[in-house]
Amino acid sequence: MKKYSLLTALLCLWAGSCYAQLRDYGTARTLTGTVFVYNIFIAEPGNPWKMNEKKSMLKKSELAHKWLIQRAAKLGKPLTFIEESNINSRDVIVAKIPGYGNYSSNIVNDAVKLSGFKSNRQFKKWAQDHVAFDSILVAVYANKSGRSYAEPSSKDIEGFLVYKTFEGSYETASTIAHETLHCFGAIDLYSDPTFSLQYNQNAERANQLWPNDIMHEVPYSFSSVRLGPLSSWLVGIGNHDPAFDRFKPR
Ligand SMILES: [Zn+2]
Repeated sequence: MKKYSLLTALLCLWAGSCYAQLRDYGTARTLTGTVFVYNIFIAEPGNPWKMNEKKSMLKKSELAHKWLIQRAAKLGKPLTFIEESNINSRDVIVAKIPGYGNYSSNIVNDAVKLSGFKSNRQFKKWAQDHVAFDSILVAVYANKSGRSYAEPSSKDIEGFLVYKTFEGSYETASTIAHETLHCFGAIDLYSDPTFSLQYNQNAERANQLWPNDIMHEVPYSFSSVRLGPLSSWLVGIGNHDPAFDRFKPR
């Protein structure tokens, strides 16, 4: 069930259907305004992050934000990121860092609690007292190899888990941008045998209509990808087109 008022719905219809305002969002609303990002470095017992690796990850996060700011600016939307992290304190220790698709736990919420906040509510209150923002997301970086994923949520703190490496290579700034976009409502546009047939057919169609979208592929460099019209609309900064309707997440 979508949670939005009739007035918002009507305004959105008049404004040309702004999906981002209609989706069930948690703490990441639309990709505009000020986004507060809280970075948490997690590790399993006995396998801490090295400082230079943490710094390198934060550098990639900055590059990802810069790319997103430029995309938003092209659409006339102001966007700023304010970041904080636990880089100088000890890593947050997680007994077993979950793998991709393990939805029995929510690593974003777990990491917030393990980093010293009693609850999500206390974390949000701390953030609100700390800085003025429009959206908040938690970036969890794991000293492990794996396939990164986002944890969008309608009730909780939104964020993602990015692993240090994926299939033997260090993770990239474009992965951080991709996962950040998920938090704001963007959907995957690549095919995957584990996804439904309809999902894969939609992904194929999306790639024909809007090639090189960052939600379709995550390259090593930003030079070959863009934020396409469907993804821009889903994160609340692009105009609607009737062609988007079949891709609307249910
Ligand atoms: Zn994805």
